[in-house]
Amino acid sequence: MSENTDVVVIGGGYAGVKAANRLTRRDDVTVTLINPRPNFVERIRLHQLVGGSDDAVVDYREVLGERIRLVVDTVTRIDAAQRSLTLATGGTVGYDYLVYAVGSGSADPRVPGAAEFAYPIASLEEAQRLRPVIDAAPATAAVTVVGAGPSGIETAAELAEEGRTVTLVCGDVLGPYLHPRGRRSVAKRMAKLGVTVLEGPDATVKAVTRDAVRLSGGRKRRRRRQAGCAAADHRRREGGPLHRRRRWQDRRHGHQ
Ligand SMILES: Cc1cc2nc3c(=O)[nH]c(=O)nc-3n(C[C@H](O)[C@H](O)[C@H](O)COP(=O)(O)OP(=O)(O)OC[C@H]3O[C@@H](n4cnc5c(N)ncnc54)[C@H](O)[C@@H]3O)c2cc1C
Repeated sequence: MSENTDVVVIGGGYAGVKAANRLTRRDDVTVTLINPRPNFVERIRLHQLVGGSDDAVVDYREVLGERIRLVVDTVTRIDAAQRSLTLATGGTVGYDYLVYAVGSGSADPRVPGAAEFAYPIASLEEAQRLRPVIDAAPATAAVTVVGAGPSGIETAAELAEEGRTVTLVCGDVLGPYLHPRGRRSVAKRMAKLGVTVLEGPDATVKAVTRDAVRLSGGRKRRRRRQAGCAAADHRRREGGPLHRRRRWQDRRHGHQ
């Protein structure tokens, strides 16, 4: 008789869910997935949560295999020698093998004023904090989105589609991760949506105040009314521009 192997997956994002599902193909493997929230967060939809067109969460029952044990908690310590994890709620979980899939988050807000006046949008909770701010802002309030990776581009597009006046401050170029052809097509789409795109060496945010961002070239972008300044600065920048629901759905099904 073969022995059972305990695998614990830390993090129930795309990587963790995929790994957990794959592992259950083997009958002699027991899989536990540990994640702080009871729902799967679709990071690629967080900008839609900000814009109000999607809640960016999916029930784990839709994406996680039946044999996987879900533990809603946060791992605070890994004791590799003892093969044991400590949970935020105080318990411990043992394992034979560990999958570490905790993803990424917002960069530290090192820009003066960013922590006080800007809204990061890398996590569900951050996007949820920004949503009511956008809702409460007058329709004419200008919104500045900082960072032109996938989150910044998608957020700027989403808000502009809602009729918001949006400025996208790129830091350097629009979509640095894209092929020049892709960049051109994103720029075209931004222009069509009426988004003001600030690129180049003078388009790095040096300071954020209550109603403006100060740029490296000394320029100051004043917002007509107080609105959210969505900081979309990620440690890792991945993905493509202006993807829409259908593509995401395809991807979601790919994880089932
Ligand atoms: C706007 C946008 C568009 C994108 N488009 C694409 C695309 O087209 N194609 C593509 O391939 N990628 C795309 N991406 C990137 C994609 O979202 C990421 O690559 C993906 O989310 C990474 O998955 P992950 O599982 O590594 O991390 P995450 O999805 O971040 O999941 C990590 C999980 O680990 C949990 N966790 C963290 N710490 C702990 C802990 N201590 N204990 C327990 N759990 C913990 C987190 O709460 C989270 O649930 C896009 C991203 C954005 C923002």
